[in-house]
Amino acid sequence: MARKKSGTSSRTIKATKNSRSEARRRELAEKVVATLRQLYPDAKCSLNYRTPLELLVATMLSAQCTDERVNQVTPALFARFRTAEDYAQADQKELEKYIRPTGFYRAKAKNLMACCRALVEKYGGQLPQTLEELTKLPGVGRKTANVVLGTLWGVPGIVVDTHVRRLARRMGLTHHTDPLKIEQDLMQLIPRDEWVAFGHRMIYHGRQVCLARKPKCDICALHAFCPKVGVANKKTKRLR
Ligand code: SF4
Repeated sequence: MARKKSGTSSRTIKATKNSRSEARRRELAEKVVATLRQLYPDAKCSLNYRTPLELLVATMLSAQCTDERVNQVTPALFARFRTAEDYAQADQKELEKYIRPTGFYRAKAKNLMACCRALVEKYGGQLPQTLEELTKLPGVGRKTANVVLGTLWGVPGIVVDTHVRRLARRMGLTHHTDPLKIEQDLMQLIPRDEWVAFGHRMIYHGRQVCLARKPKCDICALHAFCPKVGVANKKTKRLR
C-alpha cells in the first residue's frame, strides 16, 4: 500500500515537472516568434522563380546546396526547360550539365525527370496543391512540399531545412533531430497563421546570425532568453 502511494506521488511530481517545462517552452516560443517577426518582417523564400513548376524545380535543386547557387543556375535551366513535358522528355546528360553546380546532379536530374513524368501523367503537367499528393511525387519530401505549398498558396506548414533544424534545437524548441518530429514539435508551439513566415524567418536568422559553425550569440537579439543548447559545449570542446 505504502509503495503504491510513493509511485503515485512520483508520477505526480513528474507530471508537474513536465507541465512546467512545457509552459516554459511555450513562453520561449512566443518570445522567439515575436523577436524574429520584428527582425525579419518581410522574410520570404529566396529562390527565384516565375511559375509553380520553376519553384518546385528550384526547391528540389536546393537540397544540400545554397539558394544563392541555385539562383545562379536556374536562369539558363528555366530558359531551356519550360514545362513539365520538357523535363520528362529531357536527355539526362544534358539536364545534368545545367544543374551540375548544385551538387548531387545525377540524382537530382533523375528525380526531376521522374517527378515531371508523374506530373504529366497524373496532373496534366500542373502541380497538385496538397501535401499528400506532392510528397508522392518522386524526389519530393515534406520540406520541398511545404516550401511550394506555403510560398505559392499560403498553405500552413513549417519548412524544416538544415537551418530550422539547427536553430530549433539551439533555441530549446525541440530535442529531436528527425525533421518530421521537429516539424511536429514546432507545429505544437507556433501559431498556425505564423507557420510559413516562421520558417522563412528562422532560415534568415540561420544565414545571418545563428551560423552553423560560429553562432553570433553576442550580437543576437535572442541572446537574453535563448538557452543556446549545444552552443556552449561546442566552444568548451574547441578550447580544450
Ligand atoms: S543566442 Fe546564439 S544560439 Fe541562440 S539564436 Fe542567437 S545565435 Fe543562435
